[in-house]
This record gives sequence, C-alpha cells and structure tokens, in this order.
Amino acid sequence: MNPRVALVTGGNRGLGLATARSLGRKGVSVVIGARDAERSHQAVLGLRSAGVWASAVPLDVDDEESIRAAGERIRREHGRLDIMVNNAGILPEATATHATDPLDPELFARTFRTNVLGAVGVTQAVLPLLTRSERGRIVNVSSRMGSLSDQLDPASPYHSLVVPAYQASKAALNGLTVALAKKLADTPIKVNSVCPGWVQTDLGGPENRAAAPTPADEAADVVVRAALLDDDGPSGSFFDAAGPVPW
Ligand code: NDP
Repeated sequence: MNPRVALVTGGNRGLGLATARSLGRKGVSVVIGARDAERSHQAVLGLRSAGVWASAVPLDVDDEESIRAAGERIRREHGRLDIMVNNAGILPEATATHATDPLDPELFARTFRTNVLGAVGVTQAVLPLLTRSERGRIVNVSSRMGSLSDQLDPASPYHSLVVPAYQASKAALNGLTVALAKKLADTPIKVNSVCPGWVQTDLGGPENRAAAPTPADEAADVVVRAALLDDDGPSGSFFDAAGPVPW
C-alpha cells in the first residue's frame, strides 16, 4: 500500500510541526502548509533530518487564492490526500499588546477568518482529493475552550477563562466537524475535533508557553490518533488525550 499523504496547516511550528513529525515517523508522507517561506523551509529541513518524508506548500489559510493554489499543487504532486489536519489557528486576545475590547467585531472577524473560514476553505479545496482515498481523515484542531458544556461547568479548569472570539471560533469549528461528519457519513471519510490540551507553544504568548504543562510532541499524540483512526473509529466526535470531550 502507498504511504498515506497528509496536509498539516500551520505545520511550520508549534503543534502543527510536532504533528507533522509524529505522522512522518509513522510512515506518512507529510506536506506542511505554511505562509512563511523561510520558516517553512527550516521546518522541512528539520523534518527530513528526523527521517521524515516531508515537503511544504505555500498556504495562507486567510487567502482564497493561496488555498486554491495549494490544493492544486497537492493534486498535481500527489494525486490524492488521505489526511487533512486543520491546525492553523490564532488567539489574538492573548497576545495583543494593548487591552482588547472583547466584543470588537474586527477581533472576531480576524479570529474567525483563520480558525473557522480557513478550515472551511482548505477542506473545500482538498475534499475532492480526500474522496480519492480509501481512508480519508479530517482532523479539526479545536479546544476545550470551544466546548460550551465545559465553559458552563464551574468545575472546569477553563471556566474562568473568557476569550470570546477564540472560544466562539472553536465552537464554530466544532459545528463544522459535526455537520461535515454527517454530510460525509456514507463515505470512508471521518471528521473529528480534538483538543490537544494546554500546550507549550507560542499561541498564547511567552507567559502561556512557560506555564503550559504539555510539550508539543506529547500533545500531538491525540491529533495523530484522530488522523490514523481505524475504519471502525468514530466520526463526528470531539476528544482529547483522556477521552470524549462534551460539545
Ligand atoms: P502556534 O502559535 O505555535 O502556531 C500556530 C500555527 O498556525 C503557526 O504555524 C502559524 O503560522 C499558523 N497560522 C496562523 N495563521 C495562519 C494563516 N493565516 N495561514 C497559515 N498558517 C497560519 O500555536 P499552536 O501550535 O499552539 O496552535 C495550533 C493549533 O492548536 C491552533 O488551532 C490552536 O487553536 C490549537 N490549540 C492550541 C492550544 C495550546 O495550548 N497551544 C490548546 C488548544 C488548541 P506562522 O508561523 O506563519 O504564524
């Protein structure tokens, strides 16, 4: 059987890079989508030196033309796609250098453009390639912060955290997971949301990185698990390393 081909958006650093490395070590041919050419180049060199078959495609998930071109290039170079990891994401509320208005529509628009519309656009572009696979998997990298049940639960460790644009964007991404899983129910493609935990990356700025308990390589395990699900695995589910997460 040919090696599986995976596209990981935001694969040049953080959780995306760790996911690419872990998938690659399991024999998957990894294409990292990244918008910064130099960071992308360095990431591919690092992956290759770790023994991973890796390449990169320019991909800014905010840009329709970039998405279209990336999909077309993967079609040309690989002919199909087995795994789509919608990982690229932003949390501007945590990294702003000045106080943000939590209801600033521009903040919502920017966050939704990357975290939701980016995933929608990339998935739309590669869906014809995923349908050519016998084991298509779509993994939406979400967060417990997008779990409405969790946010309403006073016992949740994230209950007191309020970052409305990010939380709403991840709830919307989860909505996409459910809708798409239903839409694709009569195909082999499985669509799931995962929460990687609180990870040592740049997403929330340096303080969060220092405080976060989970190294990116460890956090990538749950993403990889969803990417390599067996044919009898779930679709339309939301889980983290410990098991199912309430919506
Ligand atoms: P990082 O900030 O370390 O990495 C984010 C990645 O997304 C970078 O590669 C970045 O690329 C990329 N990205 C952002 N915007 C775009 C865009 N428009 N087009 C293409 N790529 C883009 O964060 P993480 O690795 O932590 O985040 C990865 C995912 O994990 C996100 O979806 C995040 O919400 C999710 N997550 C993270 C958690 C954590 O604790 N860190 C917890 C729960 C979920 P560039 O280098 O060009 O900026």
